[in-house]
Amino acid sequence: MSHPTLSPTLESPLLLPEVREWLGKPKKLLIGGRWVEAQSGRTLTVTDPATGLPLCEVAEAGPADVELAVQAARHALEGTWGLTKPAERGRLLWLLSDLIERYAEELRQLESLDTGKPVMETHLFDLPVTVDHFRYFAGWATKITGETLPVSLPGEYLAYTRREPVGVVGAITPWNFPLAIASWKLAPALACGNTVVLKPSELTPLTALRLGELILEAGFPPGVVNILPGYGPTAGKPLAEHQGVDKVSFTGSPRVGREILVGSARDFKRVTLELGGKSPNIVFPDANLDEAIGGAMAGIFFNQGEACAAGSRLFLPKSHFDQILSGLVERARHLEQGLGLDLGTQIGPLVSQAHMERVLGYIEKGKAEGAELVLGGERNPQAGSGYFVKPTIFVGRDEMTIAREEIFGPVLTALPFEDLDDLVRRANDSSYGLVASIWTRDLKQAIRVAHALKAGTVWINGFGLVDAASPWGGFKTSSLGREMGSYALEHYTEVKSVWVNLL
Ligand code: NAD
Repeated sequence: MSHPTLSPTLESPLLLPEVREWLGKPKKLLIGGRWVEAQSGRTLTVTDPATGLPLCEVAEAGPADVELAVQAARHALEGTWGLTKPAERGRLLWLLSDLIERYAEELRQLESLDTGKPVMETHLFDLPVTVDHFRYFAGWATKITGETLPVSLPGEYLAYTRREPVGVVGAITPWNFPLAIASWKLAPALACGNTVVLKPSELTPLTALRLGELILEAGFPPGVVNILPGYGPTAGKPLAEHQGVDKVSFTGSPRVGREILVGSARDFKRVTLELGGKSPNIVFPDANLDEAIGGAMAGIFFNQGEACAAGSRLFLPKSHFDQILSGLVERARHLEQGLGLDLGTQIGPLVSQAHMERVLGYIEKGKAEGAELVLGGERNPQAGSGYFVKPTIFVGRDEMTIAREEIFGPVLTALPFEDLDDLVRRANDSSYGLVASIWTRDLKQAIRVAHALKAGTVWINGFGLVDAASPWGGFKTSSLGREMGSYALEHYTEVKSVWVNLL
């Protein structure tokens, strides 16, 4: 397919020449260490969220490509990669982290172009988190141990455990943090000795493809990592259901997560899921209000609110409600919205037309259900011709749709509270349980509330702190399993008990 009108962003003087050149080259599938066309010959169009116009074409994987990639991953697992020593796996992961750092500027721009997010945020979050992830798990490669077991059966035995790789991992990732989330799956999977078929989101495949080039440059053997941009039904589903895939690691919507879990039942496939959230951000009356307002801003407007961990329910004390809300509205009103590549941009466009319409639909629902709109609530054509939605703040009630469903956009619902005892119940009254945040100077109170909240991560006087060493995942419908930290290793290994009869 050819597109006569490419996005004018490609002509921006802000774009690095090497990024422009890279975008102009053919983009294929990585299978068995080689870049190949899709078996069907099809391509998919990558769109610029800032203009709604095409950036480039990328080979589109289908079931036949999934078949070849899974075979390549199996071949590598049973061949060279299976024999690779842990120290060598660690060395390759570290080398990869160095290469990502070397090409960080290029990766930052690609990520910003593809998702719309401000390049400044990729500088502060996406790239450092990705580099740290590969480094952290590089260190783990040589420290994945079993134990000797004090068995009591009559006789004499040496009994011990080994942690062996699960096998071929199907990694399926969303569009909001494409590179970082790919690293959350690839780094632990490879440290543990697995091979991977990575399917990035059809909306944002670019940094995964550039990462594939760096994986080859680092010297990972062919087939250890295979990369297949493609759509959910035609690439994600065949990958998730392939009998040659031993484990699926999925991040995305609860709807697809549920489908993958049901599909995995036939083969009792190992599955980890990172899904949605509707997280409470709680400000107590004694908090440093300036910091709390900063936390509320980051909680909902970072990454345009397209974050599973968005603090989209802001609980404010009635006694300070107007003061905090007006401070927040004042700051949100001045957020610079525009082209992600511009260093001054603080909030970019949403990722796609369909997603923008979904977010605008929630805004209309908020208005229809009687929530009070205090900021935004519409598109922002001044910011550009693409999918820009103004930072939006409602005052609402717990039972409203905008306070219950994940919007995944820059839409905050402020909720007043008076009764401290009822607050935890209200904060926990959600099908999700990913993160929560508490702002107070009273640490005893903060710790009591932190322990009572049903959330995988609780931040006290902070928001959005993510580190490879700290487990990531949630309670209830937010997750199944955990990523990051030593907890991730459990999901990328099988435990084997070995008994040796010594008599
Ligand atoms: P999505 O579920 O639509 O897509 C995610 C991935 O799954 C994409 O690669 C897509 O192509 C693929 N997919 C779609 N249908 C599939 C199918 N039937 N079988 C297999 N794969 C399929 O989600 P999205 O819109 O890309 O991302 C937004 C969602 O991701 C939100 O709900 C958000 O909360 C969640 N998310 C969670 C975390 C976390 O760490 N918990 C992080 C980021 C995003």
